[in-house]
Amino acid sequence: MVTFDTVTKKYKEDITALQDVSFQIEEGEFCFVVGPSGAGKSTIMRLLIREEVPTSGSIFFKDIEVPKLTRRLLPAYRQKLGVVFQDIKLLQTKTLEENIAFALEILDKSHKEIKDTTDYLLDLVDLRERRTQFPNELSGGEQQRGAIARALANKPDLFIADEPTGNLDSENAKQILDILNTINRNGTTVMVISHDFNLINNSKNRIINIINGKLNSDTGKKETKKILDEEKKEEDMPKSKEERKEVEKKDIKLSEEFDDLSKSVKEKLKKFAIKTPQTLLNITEGDLKNMDLKSKERGELENFVRAYLKKQ
Ligand code: ADP
Repeated sequence: MVTFDTVTKKYKEDITALQDVSFQIEEGEFCFVVGPSGAGKSTIMRLLIREEVPTSGSIFFKDIEVPKLTRRLLPAYRQKLGVVFQDIKLLQTKTLEENIAFALEILDKSHKEIKDTTDYLLDLVDLRERRTQFPNELSGGEQQRGAIARALANKPDLFIADEPTGNLDSENAKQILDILNTINRNGTTVMVISHDFNLINNSKNRIINIINGKLNSDTGKKETKKILDEEKKEEDMPKSKEERKEVEKKDIKLSEEFDDLSKSVKEKLKKFAIKTPQTLLNITEGDLKNMDLKSKERGELENFVRAYLKKQ
């Protein structure tokens, strides 16, 4: 599912965050990436979600060559990933269940599906009773579990968490690990980044150890049987170079449904090749962040989505 092939990342000429790092993660694996602070672990994640590009080497997610993705294709790509960042947790202005539902609303799910999935995810992270609370009314562990639930809403192929147990006591940390093990048993590939070696004590999972930007060891790799018999068709994701170029070249024409939006919002939609309301509904919270919308523009888009869904 994930291939890093002799990846080197230099932030500046004298800062080499990763050097010639190679590993492969199979579909269905649960893998820890551990190492001391500053070792280069988060850089692996940033490269994988295409927030950064490598200085040399190649990175593949399935058959997608990640560094070559254009900005326009990023929303469709990132939708395949469920990411929990170190410091970014839940949206403060929404309740816990609204946080999860929001991730589903923009995916054009029916009211019933949103309710069912939200219930399922709240149960999974044991927060059903806390559903109407705002993030600042939840404990650190609860917020982290909520962030995990939200990241799982779009049924990602790969779930990545950067320091998911940072700042939590051992009991809360264990609860988080139990949840991640459950989602892995249910078929999601999981990658956990951590500097906390206690986390991997007695773990039978795969452990990739990074020290000073180099792969120090890679233990516990299992041959995981491939669950998928046939690859899902990636409709939104043109594969060949020619197809990608075609997308880049095209003068983007927005669907008429967007006519009433402000010029600035339309420009941003164009920039991200969001040509139809359908594509807009398929982007994730992370993509919205990438679009760098001002709060007024974001409100405008949210209203548009709401009105569009109502009409449908
Ligand atoms: P870890 O996640 O293991 O703590 P990082 O991947 O965040 O490590 O960082 C690896 C190295 O790269 C560190 O020396 C860090 O200071 C440096 N680094 C990370 N991000 C940047 C950046 N945006 N610009 C310059 N140096 C960076």
